Amino acid sequence: MIDVHCHLEQKDFAKDLDSAIERARKVGIKALITCCANPKDFERSLEIAEKYKNYVFLTGSVHPIHVPEFTDEEISEFLEKLKDLKKRKMLIGIGETGLDYYWVKDERQRERQKQVFLLHIELAKKLKLPLIVHSRESNSDTAKILETVGYEKVLWHFFGDKSLTEWLIENGYKASFNTLLLKSKTHKKIVKKLPLEQILLETDAPWLGFGKRNEPSAIVKVAERIGEIKKLSFEEVWQVCGENAKKFFGLKI
Ligand SMILES: [Zn+2]
Repeated sequence: MIDVHCHLEQKDFAKDLDSAIERARKVGIKALITCCANPKDFERSLEIAEKYKNYVFLTGSVHPIHVPEFTDEEISEFLEKLKDLKKRKMLIGIGETGLDYYWVKDERQRERQKQVFLLHIELAKKLKLPLIVHSRESNSDTAKILETVGYEKVLWHFFGDKSLTEWLIENGYKASFNTLLLKSKTHKKIVKKLPLEQILLETDAPWLGFGKRNEPSAIVKVAERIGEIKKLSFEEVWQVCGENAKKFFGLKI
């Protein structure tokens, strides 16, 4: 199993990252993919990926909610940094990137999100890296953009749109699910429909702990829930979703 989406650079992990990682290893998680979604977190994210080499892997982006905080020039500079990281074999994906109309209401900034999303897609294509998509209250615009660019290596993180499930299946994109699946009927219906081969697991930790800090080891509960929904054994879900992630990110672990 691989947690394909967490944020280990967040302050919530500052005091006990070692033990959180130990707990992840203990439950049988073979790798963690931490997502640096803000240029301000770059140094810390890199430090973590270097310290836990071959266990923690890194993806990077300017998250759509952070787009308003940076100038176009600063965003381009950051994307150059990501290119350099790829050269050093320290980057395995571009994202999370996309659109977020829940947090960003300003029309001009929403337009910028689209431009920045396109820049990230271009970079993923150029570097032949997986693209990790974030979308909140902006799903039809996100889908439209993905259709126009025609890139196949797409993981829609935290996917939760029933009306786009068929579309996602047909495009062969991957979707990742987290602990919200324990509570949400919509997500349950989506998981029921999606072939297991298109499902990856994540935690989005430290978030989604429902009152507590979340951490990668919680992925066990997500795998159990998928087993219940799809009437499969825990072992099968654990093994297949782990293999899906390994293949999608090209990890040699
Ligand atoms: Zn995230």
